[in-house]
Amino acid sequence: MNKRKKYIFGNWKSNKDSVEVREWFKTFTSFYKQAKNLLTPDLEIVIFPSFTYLPLANTLIKEYQVPLKLGSQDISPFGKGAWTGEVAADQLSEWVNYVIIGHSERRNNFHEKDSLLQKKVEEALRGNLIPVYCIQDENTHIPSGVTIVAYEPVWAIGTGKTDSPENAGSVANSVKRNKNIKIVIYGGSVKPDNIDGFLQDKNIDGVLPGGASLDAKVFWELIKHVAGV
Ligand code: PEP
Repeated sequence: MNKRKKYIFGNWKSNKDSVEVREWFKTFTSFYKQAKNLLTPDLEIVIFPSFTYLPLANTLIKEYQVPLKLGSQDISPFGKGAWTGEVAADQLSEWVNYVIIGHSERRNNFHEKDSLLQKKVEEALRGNLIPVYCIQDENTHIPSGVTIVAYEPVWAIGTGKTDSPENAGSVANSVKRNKNIKIVIYGGSVKPDNIDGFLQDKNIDGVLPGGASLDAKVFWELIKHVAGV
């Protein structure tokens, strides 16, 4: 029987310069080399660096031969063209498989509303990118075409407080049943000492750590938990 696929998505936000990106990969690779068979195909490990470091991260993935994929933290709601400052799906698809859409930091600090997020999802799908759509609770609108949802209660992001695995599992269950979503992951202060509760819930398919993904050693610890070691 196939093992259920598990997802671990590291959101780097506006952190790291090129030296730090290189350091992260060097450290990550040193752990990976000691336990290569831990990263089986049923584990989907994706990091989300800033736009500027996607090509570098892509080069380092190839150079170190680590089974990581890339995602972007945002996407333009428009295609290529006269949209100063935006990065379009067709540009991103050169580097990434996934894109985070609707993160609460973008909803709150950049006033992104459902109608704009809908356009971003449409653009991602048009560019064959997989949207990782962030919801704050089970009532958040989810645009059609979304298959992966990250349940991230605002008060748990970067605060050290987590939702209970029971409540996160119940939100995941509700979204799967009522909105026909296939994959639900949990985000909000995930750390090595609290990840297991979320992974044990049958409706939670993985995690989206922010802060804990910045340190390659801590990220590797999280991966070990997801791999069940
Ligand atoms: C996030 O970046 O979406 C997040 C959940 O961050 P943190 O793990 O730091 O709370």
